[in-house]
Amino acid sequence: MLAITETDIQDWKYVSEGGATIVFSYTPKSNSNPRFEGTVLRLRKAIVPRLPHVVRPKDDNPTILVDEPDDPMIEYQTKCMTRLIPPSHLPRLETVRLDRSWLQQFNTYHEHKRPEARREKDSIDLSRTKGVLATDLVGGDWLAVEIKPKWAFLPNPSHLSPQTHPIKTQTCRFCMHSHMRSESGKMVALGYCPLDLFSGDEERVSKAVDGLWKSWADSNGTVNNLKIFSRGKVVRPAEAHLMIAGGVDPLQYPEGLRDIFRAALVRPLLQTPVLHILSKLQRTLDLLDIEGLAKLWRRTEASAPLYRTTFASFFEESSTEDPPSTPLGVSSLFLSSPEPNIADWTDFLDTYLSPASANLNNSAPAPENLRYYLLAYLLSATFKDCSIIIRLGFLGDDTQSDIVKPDSVRVIDLDPKSMDKLRGWEKLDTEIVTAYAKKLDPKVCIDTI
Ligand SMILES: [Zn+2]
Repeated sequence: MLAITETDIQDWKYVSEGGATIVFSYTPKSNSNPRFEGTVLRLRKAIVPRLPHVVRPKDDNPTILVDEPDDPMIEYQTKCMTRLIPPSHLPRLETVRLDRSWLQQFNTYHEHKRPEARREKDSIDLSRTKGVLATDLVGGDWLAVEIKPKWAFLPNPSHLSPQTHPIKTQTCRFCMHSHMRSESGKMVALGYCPLDLFSGDEERVSKAVDGLWKSWADSNGTVNNLKIFSRGKVVRPAEAHLMIAGGVDPLQYPEGLRDIFRAALVRPLLQTPVLHILSKLQRTLDLLDIEGLAKLWRRTEASAPLYRTTFASFFEESSTEDPPSTPLGVSSLFLSSPEPNIADWTDFLDTYLSPASANLNNSAPAPENLRYYLLAYLLSATFKDCSIIIRLGFLGDDTQSDIVKPDSVRVIDLDPKSMDKLRGWEKLDTEIVTAYAKKLDPKVCIDTI
């Protein structure tokens, strides 16, 4: 295991942080350690104790010698994601050994770089003995383009209701959702359709990139479907010159920067297998659409003996009402639906990747396969919500090779989704389709399969 404590704390630079982790990039001034070049360090955070004199009991108890498990992010990636996406298209993740005195010094040195609002709430968790070292995808001497592609396909029509069928088979989920969000005043990528990006057709991929660029320019870079980084810095439209190679006059491209950007980006998007992989995963994991999944859930619950005895009166011929049902994904006395752990995910993948999965009758899904369909849907949601990072040379640099290396396109943000999201997704689906049904000139999105 790599000992990060061999590096100087000053060789790390604060990059950013989320709710649970803080990220630092390796930027040594001198004596660079090649084992850490091109990496970022991700450390877990802990809540700042309200009372300064509170001492964590762990500090006083030398008997606790249990080895801390690796970060769950590493386990999920190594045991699950590498079975679905070739490792060359994933960031490298490694466990690094930490120690308390190094972490303490590290924390003291870097704390002032953090936003004040964050500092009041939490800080680096000093009790951790392991951290995560990952590939630095945006911080080097290149342009990094981050695209959140979203839903790649039109749904399987078999389980759609007569009301939603004509709508959902014509307009893709992203375009419908964008319409609803834009009606409520949000800034969205209206001109972008993911089905164009995933089409594999040069003209349509170019159209998708133009749509992303326009929303980036119109929103001052705030729409999250496209982000551009130059040497680790987020590029806003007013700083677009940061995307151009040194020595090239920006005035050479007064209007045409978008065209050069498109030309540079379309090549890797067409050459990489990543978009095809994501599209295939999404559609072969979301087999029933949320409507079919919800129907299967209700049917499975209703077939439980205890359910039938509990709500016996509803099953009498004279009853005109339907018995109550538990929301999708929520465990009850009749149907248990625990959150999947790593063992559940690997078992699921064993089935998904085996020839047996082809024998599932997805037109008439069986209640005994409910768990399979639930996990498949959650995993599909991970791929609908991930991002890809494309590494490009600076625009206008003619020395670039035309061959795109496999590791120039990587998939990030592959976090597992939880069962308790399902009920919200079902509700959102209804809202999106209901809002879109009112649109007089619905968009036609073309699925290429
Ligand atoms: Zn669309």
